[in-house]
This record gives sequence, C-alpha cells and structure tokens, in this order.
Amino acid sequence: MERSQIAQEIIETCLEMTRLGLNQGTAGNISVRYQDGMLITPTGVPYEKLTESQIVFVDAQGRHEEGKLPSSEWRFHQAVYQARSDARAVVHNHAVHATAVSILNRAIPAIHYMIAAAGGNSIPCAPYATFGSKALSEHVAATIRDRKAILLQHHGMITCESTLEKALWLAQEVEVLAKLYLTTLAVVDPVPVLSDEEIAVVMEKFKNYGLRVEA
Ligand code: 13P
Ligand code: ZN
Repeated sequence: MERSQIAQEIIETCLEMTRLGLNQGTAGNISVRYQDGMLITPTGVPYEKLTESQIVFVDAQGRHEEGKLPSSEWRFHQAVYQARSDARAVVHNHAVHATAVSILNRAIPAIHYMIAAAGGNSIPCAPYATFGSKALSEHVAATIRDRKAILLQHHGMITCESTLEKALWLAQEVEVLAKLYLTTLAVVDPVPVLSDEEIAVVMEKFKNYGLRVEA
C-alpha cells in the first residue's frame, strides 16, 4: 500500500477512535508497520487537526524524518513490532474503563468469552514506567509477547493486530471487557471466570471468527 494511503488510514482510525469514545484530547497514538520501520502519528497534535504530511516515518534504528516529531511513545510501538512479527498495526489510548482497571493494577480475567480475542485467558497489565521511556517499552515488550492486547498501569491500553481496523476493533472490545469487569467487581471480588479449557475452545473457534471486512 502507498504511504499516503496508509497515512490517510491512520488519520481516519484516530478520528474513529475519538468518535467511539475511546480517547480524549491529544492522548493516544497509532502506527502501522512500514518498510523496515513504521508510520506513526506525530506527538501532541489533536486528531481533528492531523494532516497526511504530519504522519512520521521512524526507521528500525528509531531515527525519524527531519522536521517532524513522532509520538512520544514511538519506542513502545517499535517494541510491539519487534516482539510480535504478526503485528502490522498498533493502537494506544487512555479509554476510561481500561485505564481504571490499570490503576487497580489488575489484569482483566476471563469474565467473558470475548477475552479470547486478545489471544489468551486474560488481558495483562504491564508495570508502570514514565510515558515515552525505554523502561516502558521494555515492560510492553515483555507483556505483549503472548497477547494482542495489554493494559499499562496508571496509563491506558495497547492493542496490536494484522490491520488498523482490527486493532481498533480489539481496542473497543478491551474497553467493553474493562467496563464489564469494573461493573461486576463492584458486586463481587473475585469475579467468576470461564475455565482455561473453555477459553481454549473459544480461541480455536476464533481462528474462523471475528471482524469481517472487505479487503
Ligand atoms: P503523544 O501525543 O506523544 O503520542 O502522546 C500521547 C500519549 O498517549 C502518551 O502516552
Ligand atoms: Zn498514553
């Protein structure tokens, strides 16, 4: 796909993320794997003001195009692509319910079968480190290795998928799961969960199930 087409898709996904209520202000960032690096949103630009020329290329060594400033989180986006060869798109946001669970420093357990969309029986929470830091990217790499979605303690969530559309779809699922978790947690702790065996069955079914969109 052409660079300008990918840049347009990144902008449309950012706007859709806000429309879905998953993000606010200048929080969050989105990237797509491109050549030996990635195309990523610039730092600090409100999504409604984003233009195609502001999308930044960052190479495998972490060097970015001159005159442009990539997202402060380019390190953890790079870490996701390094940790997961199947990841082609990464979405990060501060969705309220997912972030609330991260503040409690809990993983979302298997409270609903949709947890399997994240690639396992939980959505783990990576330990806190300052935003944009190398330490945070190391926590992300270690936590996302066997999941497509994770929480970041006192911060937000990250999803990765084979396409931007799927990564945003997964982010929305994570937010719903987080809301369900908090809702049930207010009544009972620990919240009842599905067995590992059942999640394994659902994961098998998910090989032929999920978001269906025209190529
Ligand atoms: P950027 O504007 O630098 O992408 O930062 C937003 C953010 O969510 C930091 O974690
Ligand atoms: Zn953030």
